[in-house]
Amino acid sequence: MPTSRSLTCPRCQGTMEAGYTIDVGYGTKAVPKWVAGEPQKSIWTGLKLSGKDQLDVSTYRCRRCGYLESYA
Ligand SMILES: [Zn+2]
Repeated sequence: MPTSRSLTCPRCQGTMEAGYTIDVGYGTKAVPKWVAGEPQKSIWTGLKLSGKDQLDVSTYRCRRCGYLESYA
């Protein structure tokens, strides 16, 4: 996890601020996951994720221009 890295914006050289994005649903908040490969639809859960790698996504945001860069 690149949480302690200090990054510079590739566009404007501004300071990148560490954070993450959330999915806001019906009463739930969750950090989006990154999953390898193509999404496979499942009739039971919407998406079939068993056996797939799931990683938390951290997103850096440039304080100057708002550019977002995501890492998993
Ligand atoms: Zn920037």
